[in-house]
Amino acid sequence: MKMQNLPTADNSKDRSSRRKEALISLEGRSEPPCVGGYGLGGVLNWACRLALMMTVCALTAGHSAAAANDLDKLMPVRGFCIAAPRPKHLERFIAFINDELAPRQVNTLILRVDYNYQYQSHPELAENGALSREDVKKLVNACRTNHIRLIPHINLLGHQSWAGNTYGLLKQYPEFDETPLVKMPAKYEWPNPDGLYCKSYCPLHPKVHDIVFALVDELCDAFEADTFHAGMDEVFYIGDDKCPRCAGKDKAELFAGEVRVIHDHLAQKSRSLWIWGDRLLDGKTTGLGMWEASYNNTWRAIDLIPKDVVICDWHYERPDQTAVYFAMKGLKVVTCPYRMPQVAVTQAQDMVKFRKSSTPEMRERFQGVMQTVWSDAGGFLDRDYQGKATGKNAVNNSWNTFRAMFDEIAKLNEAKSEKEK
Ligand SMILES: [Zn+2]
Repeated sequence: MKMQNLPTADNSKDRSSRRKEALISLEGRSEPPCVGGYGLGGVLNWACRLALMMTVCALTAGHSAAAANDLDKLMPVRGFCIAAPRPKHLERFIAFINDELAPRQVNTLILRVDYNYQYQSHPELAENGALSREDVKKLVNACRTNHIRLIPHINLLGHQSWAGNTYGLLKQYPEFDETPLVKMPAKYEWPNPDGLYCKSYCPLHPKVHDIVFALVDELCDAFEADTFHAGMDEVFYIGDDKCPRCAGKDKAELFAGEVRVIHDHLAQKSRSLWIWGDRLLDGKTTGLGMWEASYNNTWRAIDLIPKDVVICDWHYERPDQTAVYFAMKGLKVVTCPYRMPQVAVTQAQDMVKFRKSSTPEMRERFQGVMQTVWSDAGGFLDRDYQGKATGKNAVNNSWNTFRAMFDEIAKLNEAKSEKEK
């Protein structure tokens, strides 16, 4: 479950040693045969150098294009998902894109923006000190330069509160609350008599989509995005018995109905929809439980949602092979680890195996993997990335998991290329 918000490590040490290795390999390289000297010989030498450089450049470009192509075949989606940085962390986060995501050929970045944007359509919903349009343009440019698809995210339906804190939408528009009778506690504890995990909005409230779609459209425009991630995970409150609109309705149909409404709205502008997968899995039969899967009968929605919705299938403690289930239902799927390096390595191996061992119909539904980070970008850069996590988190953290998984992807790609030679 994603409620654990964890610290952790990784290493500037590792980064500097990686750079050091790169320097050593450059220093150790022997000079090309035509170096040095002036006069005619020198000119020839320079001409020779230029020709050599051009050849090297052409070869390198050809090689990297071929390598990227190979990697795309091995694993079409190589993702990273994190809360969008606050403006004060923006430059550091862009450096992270350039220094860490780009060299590993990450090609998809999901930024969980939620209310961290200065919405013009609904300024009342923007958090204090949120990202400006200019800030977002810097992110758009960094991703474009590095050939990374940038996907903004707003939690829709569920996750409208966290612990004792109600988020912008229900704070400003309490009439959208699916469970208005459930009061936010002064001190949040789980479990609690109300079964309050997070608040949801009522998907059948006649005004709710006017507001949320204005945010979605504005954000997609600012991010120049062809895809939007709507969250929709861990929805515990849905079809509440006391909701005048939803009471008595089938929860799977309510969930699927909301997916379809969002999907169809995005489709008007040729945008596609990604969501988390947990509500579409049967928590009891699978033993996956009530966070990682559904105990509230939403799981039959898997047969009711449009087939072009992409599922982000998160499993953090074990490499559960539910990607196969989504693919067999006709849905594209991306497997998402969090903080266990070995789990992520297995998930990358499984994804490659699924692609290799499937029918052509199934193969393209196995889209790839995406590292998730469940702290804000500033916290991640300060802690995990700097190797400052302590205790068990010193090993099991998002940064270590990310590196282990992308090292494994590189290895799998090399092995594939060797085999094909
Ligand atoms: Zn309702």
